[in-house]
Amino acid sequence: MSTEKTLKKFKTVEGTFELTKHVFGQGSPTCGVISGVHGDEFLARKVAEHLKENLDNRVFNGTVHIVSDANIFACDEGRRMTPWPRFEKNEGEMRDLNRCFKTAFENMKSKNKLNTTQLIAREILRDFKKFDFVLDLHNATSGGFKVDQTRLKVSNGIPQETIIEMEKMAKNSGTDFVMRSAPSWLGGTLSSILPLLKVPVITFEVSGGSGRDKKDFENYMGYVENVLKFKEVLDGENVFKEPYFFDQIIPVYSDSYGHLKLFVELGEFIYPGKTIALILDDEGNAVEEIYSEHEGFIESITDSKEVIEGSRIVNIGSNGEGFK
Ligand SMILES: [Zn+2]
Repeated sequence: MSTEKTLKKFKTVEGTFELTKHVFGQGSPTCGVISGVHGDEFLARKVAEHLKENLDNRVFNGTVHIVSDANIFACDEGRRMTPWPRFEKNEGEMRDLNRCFKTAFENMKSKNKLNTTQLIAREILRDFKKFDFVLDLHNATSGGFKVDQTRLKVSNGIPQETIIEMEKMAKNSGTDFVMRSAPSWLGGTLSSILPLLKVPVITFEVSGGSGRDKKDFENYMGYVENVLKFKEVLDGENVFKEPYFFDQIIPVYSDSYGHLKLFVELGEFIYPGKTIALILDDEGNAVEEIYSEHEGFIESITDSKEVIEGSRIVNIGSNGEGFK
């Protein structure tokens, strides 16, 4: 049996909106699952909804707390950020919930006035700081294809044991690629703030933008369940991988107008000098060759056949300073 709890009520002219969570199981370990931090990430929300509908009697050990619509106002409209001016008074204020957790963290107990989005962030932090680990569900929304990846934020101030635990969770998620990015403290994401409170967080970034939704959904469920099995919250064996760790994403743009002919695939490892694409004119003559200046892999790739100057062709996932 699950229970539903209200974390906070917001009274608006359109009625009352409730930030709620569903709780399954009992005892430890305690796991927080969150989606809808961005209201337009439907695949991530669908995964959380599916968990809510199917977790009854499956939790083997511990407790799972699920907030599927974190930014309730953004989710209400299916938009990334809190809609303005419907729910947030000033356009200039922080409306992206995933930029509000730093302010929320600094105002955990203060009486300072926070905006609606920051109040949501604070309520989530107050609840999620108690958990043993957190799964932060996102998905790509722009056109094109992206490799499924687990992400973790490593910055100064995060205890070493928390970082080690996040890496273990990433290796036991089943994704082939893990982005381990350096300080994002200023970004104010949930994934950069909770680890400072010793709560290991991994973020999932699964495609969902290019019409592969059924397969993406199944893969996504697999990654989430893998981590829950690794933590023995669910029964069963998980898949362990030695993923490729990367710490930066380098966009590669076209400089011409024309038809795109690609020479790389999603997830393919590349090296400096490798041809990524040709741009052809209407007669089939090459007007531009795009080649890699980096070693890394194809992290995302466009689904467009035609490009203009400044179209993004691929992103290269690569290792910069700091990590190997
Ligand atoms: Zn997101």
